[in-house]
Amino acid sequence: MVGFEPSEDQKLVQETVRSFAREQIRPRARDADETGEIPAALVEQAWGLGLVQGTVPEAYGGFGNELSAVTGALVAEELGWGDLSIALHILAPSLVTVPLLEFGTEAQKREVLPTYTGENFRAATAALVEPRFGFDPAEMETVAEKKNGGWILRGHKCFVPLADEAEHMLVYARTGGPGLENVGVFLVRRGTPGVEILEREKNMGIKGLRTFEVRLSDVRLPAEARLETGEAGVRRLLDRSRVALAALAVGVSRAAFEYARDYAKERKAFGVAIAQKQAIAFMVAEMAIEIDATRLLVWEAAWKLDRGEDATREAVLAKQYAAERALEITDNAVQVLGGHGYIRDHPVEMWLRNARGFATFEGLAIV
Ligand SMILES: Cc1cc2nc3c(=O)[nH]c(=O)nc-3n(C[C@H](O)[C@H](O)[C@H](O)COP(=O)(O)OP(=O)(O)OC[C@H]3O[C@@H](n4cnc5c(N)ncnc54)[C@H](O)[C@@H]3O)c2cc1C
Repeated sequence: MVGFEPSEDQKLVQETVRSFAREQIRPRARDADETGEIPAALVEQAWGLGLVQGTVPEAYGGFGNELSAVTGALVAEELGWGDLSIALHILAPSLVTVPLLEFGTEAQKREVLPTYTGENFRAATAALVEPRFGFDPAEMETVAEKKNGGWILRGHKCFVPLADEAEHMLVYARTGGPGLENVGVFLVRRGTPGVEILEREKNMGIKGLRTFEVRLSDVRLPAEARLETGEAGVRRLLDRSRVALAALAVGVSRAAFEYARDYAKERKAFGVAIAQKQAIAFMVAEMAIEIDATRLLVWEAAWKLDRGEDATREAVLAKQYAAERALEITDNAVQVLGGHGYIRDHPVEMWLRNARGFATFEGLAIV
C-alpha cells in the first residue's frame, strides 16, 4: 500500500515554511522582481529555519535530520508558492550540500559542509546548464581532462545562481565520450584561477535571483576535487533536481490558482461574480485538478528517491508535466483577471514570467 499522509515531522516543517512564505516571502516578492535584489535580512531569516543545514549530520555541524526528497518537495512547494526567485536563492547552498552528503568523500564533507552549517547564510552553487541549443547533460561540451594526476576543466556554463558570491561551485563536466557515465562532478572553490564569472544574466522571469554565465578556462583541480558519483550518482542528482523543480512549479501554480480563484469570486461583470460564469469556473476547476495531479507525480518520484530506487522515469515525467502545467495555469490566471492580469498591480503576470523558466532551468535546484 502507498500512503499520502506526511509524517508529524514533515507536517511541522511544511506548516513552518508555509507561514514563513506567507508572512515573509510573499510580501517581498514584487519588490525583488522590480529591483532584482533579495533583501539580505530575509535570506538570514530563512536561514534560521534550518532548511539547508538541517539535513547535514551533526558531525559536520548540522542538525542531523534525514535527507528526504519527500520533505524537500513539501518545502519546495511552499517556498515556490511564496516566490520562485527567493526560494531558489534560499535553497542554493543545497546545490553543494546535498550532492556532497550523497557522494562526497569524507575529506570533502569535512572541509566543505561546516561552511554551510554556521549562523549565517553562505552562498553555494552548481554549474550544469550550457548556453547552447538542445543542452543535454549526457552530451555536455564542458570537459574535464585528466592531467598530471589532477583535472583540467574547460567550458562555458549559464544559469549559475549566486555565482558571484558562492563559496563553492559544483561543476558538471564530461570526462569522456557521451553518456551520463562519463559525467564528473567537481568541487571548485571560490577564487580558483581560470573561473570567470561573467555579467549577470537578464532573464524574463525570476528577476530577483542573480544568475550568471561562467567561463572555465584551464581550471586546474586536484584529483580529490571529484565527487564519487559514477553514472548512477549523476542520474540521481539530476532526478533530485527535477523533483525539486517540479515541486517549486507546483508551488507557483498553486499561488496563481488561489489568486485567480479569489479574484473570480470578487470580480463582478454584468451583476454577477465571474466565478459563476462557466468559462471562468471551468478554468479555475481545471487548475485545481492539474495542481493535485502534478503534486502526486512529484510525490511519487520523491518517494522512489527516498527508497533508493531508480526514479528517473518518474522524475522526468513529474518535471515535464509540472513545467507545462505551471505555464498553463499561470497563463490562465492572467486570463481570469482579464486586463488586470496584464498589469503589474497584480502578481499573476510575474508568476507567468517565472513559470516560463521551468522549461529552461534544469539542475538549478537540488533539494
Ligand atoms: C494593454 C491593454 C490595453 C488596453 N487598452 C484599452 C483601450 O485603449 N481602451 C479600452 O477601453 N480598454 C482597454 N483595455 C481594457 C480591455 O478592453 C479590458 O481589459 C478587457 O475588455 C477585459 O476587461 P476586464 O479587464 O475588465 O476583465 P473582466 O471583464 O473582469 O474579465 C475577467 C475575465 O472574466 C471573463 N468574463 C467577463 N465577463 C464574462 C461573461 N459574461 N461570461 C464569461 N466570461 C466572462 C473574461 O473573459 C476574463 O477572462 C486595455 C487592456 C490592456 C491589458
